Amino acid sequence: MASQEIETLTAQLARLPGLGPRSARRAVLWLLKRRDTALSALVEALDAVREGLVECETCGNVDTSQPCGICADPRRDARSLCVVEEVADLWALDRSRLFAGRYHVLGGRLSALDGVGPEDLSIAALLGRVAAGGIDEVVLAMNATLEGQTTAHYIAERLEGSPVRVTQLAHGLPVGGELDYLDEGTLAQALRARRPVS
Ligand SMILES: [Zn+2]
Repeated sequence: MASQEIETLTAQLARLPGLGPRSARRAVLWLLKRRDTALSALVEALDAVREGLVECETCGNVDTSQPCGICADPRRDARSLCVVEEVADLWALDRSRLFAGRYHVLGGRLSALDGVGPEDLSIAALLGRVAAGGIDEVVLAMNATLEGQTTAHYIAERLEGSPVRVTQLAHGLPVGGELDYLDEGTLAQALRARRPVS
C-alpha cells in the first residue's frame, strides 16, 4: 500500500484524458524514481502554467499571456482567420504549421441535443472581429461531424454579405473525424485544399 499522498497523486493523474488508474500508477512510479529531474521539472511546469494561465480575450486560445502568443505575433497574417471548435483544434492545426493566420475558438459546436445554441458559443465575438475589418478570409475548420458541419453552415450564413471570403476545410477529412485526432499530413491536406463554402 502506498501512502495517502501517493494515492492522491495517482488518483489525480488517473483523471487525465487517456490515462486510467493503471497508466497513472506507472507514471507515478516513473516520476518517483526521478524525483530530482522529471518530478521537479513537472512540478515547476505545472506551477508556471497554473500561475500564468489565461484565456485570450481576442481568440479564446489558452496561453500564459494576454493576448495569446499567436494573436501577439506580428509575423501572423491578420487578414486570415481560422475558426475552430475547441482550443485542442487550434493546437492541432497550429502544429501542422501550414496556417499562418490567426484563430477564433468557438468554445464548442451547435447541438440541439445538448441544448447548445449560437449564444453559447463565441459567434457574436467572431462576427464582431469580422465586422471590425482587416480580415479577407475566414476558414471554417469545424470537425467533420454533423454538429461541426451544422455550426459551419450557420456561421457561413451569418457571414453572408460580409466582404470576406468564407472557406472550409476540404472533405478529405474522414466523416466523424475530429481535428485533434488527425495526423498532421491529413490535416495539412484538408487545409491546403480548402474550398469556398457553397
Ligand atoms: Zn489569441
